[in-house]
Amino acid sequence: MRPSSSASIDVIGVVGAGTMGHGIAHVAARAGFEVILNDVSADLVARGMRAIDLEMQKLVAKGKMPAAEREAALGRISAADQLDALTRADLVVEAIVEKLEVKTALFAELDRLCKSAAILASNTSSISITRLAAATRRPERVIGMHFMNPVPVMELVEVIRGLKTSDETVAATLETARRMGKTSVQVNDSPGFVSNRVLMPMVNEAITALMEGVAARDAIDKVMVLGMRHPMGPLALADLIGLDTCLNILEVLHREMGDPRYRPAPLLRKMVDAGDLGRKTGRGFYEYPK
Ligand code: NAD
Repeated sequence: MRPSSSASIDVIGVVGAGTMGHGIAHVAARAGFEVILNDVSADLVARGMRAIDLEMQKLVAKGKMPAAEREAALGRISAADQLDALTRADLVVEAIVEKLEVKTALFAELDRLCKSAAILASNTSSISITRLAAATRRPERVIGMHFMNPVPVMELVEVIRGLKTSDETVAATLETARRMGKTSVQVNDSPGFVSNRVLMPMVNEAITALMEGVAARDAIDKVMVLGMRHPMGPLALADLIGLDTCLNILEVLHREMGDPRYRPAPLLRKMVDAGDLGRKTGRGFYEYPK
């Protein structure tokens, strides 16, 4: 029998079907949850569904997933281009753009639509959970559930407790993450939490070093891979995360901490202005042919 803390979590809503949202839906469906995947248009939800299908096909081809399990997992995900499909959800994970105004508007809307017992979780990389909670009438049921990219591969979920998050909400979230096969670490609400407070200054410094001509792109990444045993260099990692997401996180850190050391590198801003966002657009610090 499941522990009572998560006995009521059967249906998980995921808002945002991009890099992170589709990965969260993938892992939740594989873990046996019923999943409702939402984005702003039917095309964007369909793109997320295709990405999940492709990832699962690869797992089947490698012998890491039985074909029948793929079919069953895909069958547990329903596509929704309207938010009101989430009224059945017991827990909603928000994975939309890293902008405070957009997220607070969504949390207010989710609070209005979702059942009163539902937990509203954010996959935000840096934004205050307490502030998102304040946009709702259920701050005790708002929490940070910060998955890592790529979600099906990375073990960690950073669980962030807002000022008013209840113990019951923390327990149910930890149990849900455990059922998804993840290991949780609990942290308090602070800009960038632990992960991006430590990671993003390194990524920003690598971009600044490139901008200042300290070394070429490949040399900077090689120093960190061969010298520090990082699985990929900081510039390749920025491309994987998305340069727009990196910029948004640094802007939150810079604004909230009021410390110039978090100021985004001008080269990062320029690349985002040019639409070179990394893997998701086919070009960032590296090229990604389709
Ligand atoms: P993304 O740009 O790949 O996807 C965001 C998706 O959200 C898009 O498909 C967009 O159409 C959709 N969206 C935007 N507004 C919406 C709304 N109001 N309703 C429904 N859908 C909406 O971004 P991402 O990289 O998946 O990031 C999503 C969140 O996850 C951000 O908060 C980001 O900081 C966080 N995050 C990202 C990473 C990473 O490595 N990319 C890692 C951990 C956490």
